[in-house]
Amino acid sequence: MSSNNQHFEISKRKDYLFVINENISLVHPVYTNDPLNMYLLLGTHTALLLDTGCGLYPLKPIVDGLIGERSLLVFNTHYHWDHPLGNVEFEEVYIHENEVDKVSKPYDVSFFKDSPNEIVKVYEDQNFLIPPAKVIKPLKDGDVFDLGEIEVKVIHCPGHSPGSICLLTSTSELFTSDVAYYGDQFLPKRESFSEVLETLSKLIDLCEKQKDLELYPSHRKYPCDKTLLTDLYNGIENIENLWHTKKAFDFFEAWQIDDDSGKFRYYISRS
Ligand SMILES: [Zn+2]
Repeated sequence: MSSNNQHFEISKRKDYLFVINENISLVHPVYTNDPLNMYLLLGTHTALLLDTGCGLYPLKPIVDGLIGERSLLVFNTHYHWDHPLGNVEFEEVYIHENEVDKVSKPYDVSFFKDSPNEIVKVYEDQNFLIPPAKVIKPLKDGDVFDLGEIEVKVIHCPGHSPGSICLLTSTSELFTSDVAYYGDQFLPKRESFSEVLETLSKLIDLCEKQKDLELYPSHRKYPCDKTLLTDLYNGIENIENLWHTKKAFDFFEAWQIDDDSGKFRYYISRS
């Protein structure tokens, strides 16, 4: 088993921005969106941690070591398992109001019971029920947080999940969460694609207004630019043309479609 230090990879992207990477394929090989990117923003008086990861090894000591005397805000981009399972280490965690319920109770990860990977023993030792943070607080679209010389604005971006958020900083970063990244995409039912496309076009508009934005997705490659959003928008629009190529993928209860660009694979919910 790897040690704490080897489990997370930490890189300093800017004076005020650290990236904490975690490989989620460790939990189950079906997940290929390595690494998960957690972000730590350092304002002059407050730090903001975006996501707490898989809950396999202690994250808080690493965060504490990076933030110095600053107070700490912790946000979840959304409730999917790879983003909030370290919440228990923190007193208080914010998530969009639509998903407060999802992370306020023990998180059931029993779908990993049959993982071939040894590391799921960490979950087994907790009966596959990972405890939540003590306090969960709701976020709303438009909420602004002052970290000291950096302001962060919450943008509600439903589609990937009902309470997905992106964060826009006054220092020209756009954290796109799982709303946009290169890799395997988890999409809602086809009937809800319009919501996904609406969210993406809202973000595309934002990038057109503010040309210097750098995009920081929650998985794989960063930073990206507006092309990520247009690639994904066009790819999702094209799913209709590839619909006849769909295969059942039971682990996710989804239809799998491989994009002919090679940039994305789609898992589209069947339920
Ligand atoms: Zn994710």
